[in-house]
Amino acid sequence: MAYKIAIVGLGKIAMDQHVPCITKNRKFKLVATVSRHASLPGLPHFSSLSDLIASKVKVDCVALCTPPSVRLAMATQALDAGLDVLIEKPPTPTLGEMLAMVAHAKKKKRVLYATWHSRYNDALDKAKALLKGKTVTRLRINWKEDVNKWHPGQEWIAQPGGFGVFDPGINALSAVTKILPEPLYVERSSIEVPENWSTPIGVHITFKRGDGAPADLQAEFDWRQRGEQIWEIELATADGMEMKLTQGGSVLWVNGKLVIEAKLEEYEQIYAKFANLLKARKSDTDATPLQLVCDAFMLAKPKVVAPFKWD
Ligand code: NAP
Repeated sequence: MAYKIAIVGLGKIAMDQHVPCITKNRKFKLVATVSRHASLPGLPHFSSLSDLIASKVKVDCVALCTPPSVRLAMATQALDAGLDVLIEKPPTPTLGEMLAMVAHAKKKKRVLYATWHSRYNDALDKAKALLKGKTVTRLRINWKEDVNKWHPGQEWIAQPGGFGVFDPGINALSAVTKILPEPLYVERSSIEVPENWSTPIGVHITFKRGDGAPADLQAEFDWRQRGEQIWEIELATADGMEMKLTQGGSVLWVNGKLVIEAKLEEYEQIYAKFANLLKARKSDTDATPLQLVCDAFMLAKPKVVAPFKWD
């Protein structure tokens, strides 16, 4: 029998990925949507989660595709109503909210799945296997994209809890923390915040190893990129392996040779995994990428830059 699912927050990612991936996965049936301004033809629609819960529509689980700032309240409400919950990335605006959400799901004995879509491709699985047991001495994350292109009109990204350029940057951190054989810590960071924003548009992070051994580990996120969009990760190991992941981590090069060009099926894999978690009654709530972003904010030297104007 298919899991009856409702999507909450029918915006860009819900329409681009969640609706099509749920529709083609026979383990799920999309039974309703919750959104204040949007709906899907022929499907029961509610303007709030409370209205869905009070309705006669039977639901097993919800996919929360709203911005992170409203997720804890929504997840709590869904868990209290006996629903299992899948959440978009970043899970919550703060680590405190994430810990509260995880604890509440445990208390209510419900499945909570904090998705990190950038972790799901075969190139990253291969990279993780190749890095096993090695010491990473150099890391360069270059995540540079045009905010106008990927977040048109999304004012929430500039509000507190909207993450700014950490919204895509956390994708890079989710990929890197999947493949690295050892944990990564923030040493220092600098953030550039437009005068009319509460969140950064440019970030530079210097990381360190936990054992204090010398290493050159850095990340740069920028939302002011024009032309070519860059989502790349370069790594070098103590025994001389050089690895490069391009195209958001889906194309893997080792010592200059192409190893794998993975098919992009992130959300297909997310829903396949959610079905497995529901069957096993297990949660998946890794907070490591969020922890790194929180630490980068905590250790940041801030700089106010020119006001940002949308195209
Ligand atoms: P979006 O287009 O702004 O969609 C979010 C939807 O949530 C809005 O359409 C809105 O629908 C609802 N919403 C917004 N503010 C709300 C509030 N205060 N209370 C209740 N509902 C609210 O944003 P998005 O790009 O889909 O991103 C949503 C999440 O997915 C983010 O966490 C983002 O990082 C993640 N994500 C986005 C992408 C992407 O390509 N854009 C990719 C992967 C992951 P109504 O106004 O109809 O309620």
